[in-house]
This record gives sequence, C-alpha cells and structure tokens, in this order.
Amino acid sequence: MVPTSQVPGPTVLVISLGGTIAMTSTSGAAGGVAPRLTAADLVAAVPGLEGEGALELKDFRQIPGAWLEVDAVAALAELLNRYSASGTGGFVITQGTDTLEETAYLLDLLYEGAAPVVITGAMRNPTMAGADGPANLLAAVRTASSPAARNLGVLVVFADEIHAARHIQKIHSTSISAFASPGSGPIGHVVESRPRLHFSLNRQPAVAQSFTRPATVEVIETTLGSSGVLLHGAEEHLDGLVIAAFGAGHVPASWTDRLEKLAARIPVVLTSRTGSGSVLTSTYVFAGSETHLLGCGLINGGTLDPRKARLLLIALLRAEADRAEISAAFAARN
Ligand code: ASP
Repeated sequence: MVPTSQVPGPTVLVISLGGTIAMTSTSGAAGGVAPRLTAADLVAAVPGLEGEGALELKDFRQIPGAWLEVDAVAALAELLNRYSASGTGGFVITQGTDTLEETAYLLDLLYEGAAPVVITGAMRNPTMAGADGPANLLAAVRTASSPAARNLGVLVVFADEIHAARHIQKIHSTSISAFASPGSGPIGHVVESRPRLHFSLNRQPAVAQSFTRPATVEVIETTLGSSGVLLHGAEEHLDGLVIAAFGAGHVPASWTDRLEKLAARIPVVLTSRTGSGSVLTSTYVFAGSETHLLGCGLINGGTLDPRKARLLLIALLRAEADRAEISAAFAARN
C-alpha cells in the first residue's frame, strides 16, 4: 500500500492578488512596503510546500486589498469556474486582508465548482519578524488539497483557523488573529498539518452571473442623532442601498419618511451595524423600528452584515433580479 503521504494530492492553483503577504520594502525615501512579490516568490518562501503535491501559479493582480474592485472579483470567479470545470483540484487565493472578507463572500456567491477555494493573506509583511504569510499559505494549500473541503464553497484559512466566507469578518487592524466568525466561530482548524472540519455548511446555489449591467450600491450607517442627510437624493446615484441600522434594525424616527420613499424607488436592505446577530421582524413597533421599516418596503438583510448584504445586492442587481427575486434571495440566504 502506498503511504498516505505519498499519494499525490490534487493540483492546486495558487492565485496571487497582492496584499501584505506579497509586500516588500520599496526603494522610496519614506521606506515602508508595497506589493511586489509574485505567487512564485510566495511559494518559494514556504518551507515544506514543495512536498504538498502539484502547484500551479498565477499572478492575477499585484495590488493592496483596498484597490480591489467588484469587476476584478467577478473576473476571478469566472476564472475559478472555468478551471474547476476543467479539473483543477483546489485553489488558494492570496490577497490583502483589508477586503478579504468581501472578496471571499462575493466569490462564494459566484463560484459554482466543487473544488475547494481557500483565501488567505498575512498581517505581518515578509520583512517583519514572525511574518505570518508562509504559515498561512501552507495551511491554505493543505486545506485546498483536502477532500473534506470540497463542496463547501469559499473558505478562509488564517492563523490555522478555517472559516466560512459567509461568516468571516476582519475584527482587528493589526493582530495576526485578525479574523473571526462572530456568532458562529470557525468551521474547523488546521491541526498537525491536517485540516479538521467541525461542521458542514449548507451551501446555496451560485448567483448566475450574466453581469449585464453595473450596479452601484452603498452602505449608510446610523449614528446617534444622525440627520440622515446622506439619504437625500440617494436614488439618483444608486441602484440599491444598504442601511447599517442600530441593534436589531432600528433607525432615527426622522429617517423613516425618506427611507419609505427610497424603498419605493430602489431596493433598500435593512441590516444590523452590530457585527453579529439578526435583524428582527416583528418585535419592536416604534417609528423607525424593524417592524415599521419592513412594513415600509425595506428588505430584511437577516444575519448578513452590511458589507455582505451590499455584495449580495450587487450580485443580484447585476444578474437583473427583480424586487421579488431580491427579497426571496435574501430570505433564502438567512
Ligand atoms: N493590511 C493589508 C493586508 O493585510 C493591506 C492590504 O489589504 O493590502 O494585506
């Protein structure tokens, strides 16, 4: 019998988008780091990675996370769908952590394949002591090669934790444990080099992407005593709006007329700014409560945080979903 360690794993395609994991010193007078390293550089810096089976490499972008755009992520989803249909066994994507939670969720909405897709990055760049990129990349490749990670959609591996794209959030600006899944926790861990999954996921079908038209959707957050001035004229600039509301879906009473009018013109999704938990449906009945706003035609964002709700709305609008289809999609994904 061939020892397990010698059974060739599936081919994993490592796709680099830039970010801190790929940043190194610049020659500029100010010092500091900027994205410079390629996928080949990243792989070469990981002791033990060559024993992990066949790797293919692709440099897709070399930019900070903050520069990524929806169109680029949609193009990446198309690439993943194509490669997975032609037999690639798994994917690792390295990128800036600033937008990692959003890329992960948007790819999760658009990816149709069964092969694992694992996103990772680093909080400490390669010039720093204790840089976390190599360990994260190794754990991500191991997860992407694992049969246990098939059919789970898009995962994020960071600091040896495995998270579902659906749940993950960046919760710290500098810590090497910068990611968490508030309300659900990681779905697994990488232990002694092996990914161990504790839960399975209820995967939703991909949102069909004809991507026939662009969609501009923004998030407006409630704050204590906010005037709501940003709501004025919003329908002239936006195809859709997400409200990051107080608590379980509440806004100042002064916002309600404006929101009702907006919801008659464009889809307006109600989410919670708290970072976890769900928007309620029928508990509070004051002006500006969830019951009132849903009665005014706002769409319930459920447990999706405002950033993820925005991406779901963008994907649906780009797929030309109508109001009923948008409401149904939000209901199904909660
Ligand atoms: N701090 C970021 C990172 O961790 C920078 C970026 O997102 O590009 O990669």
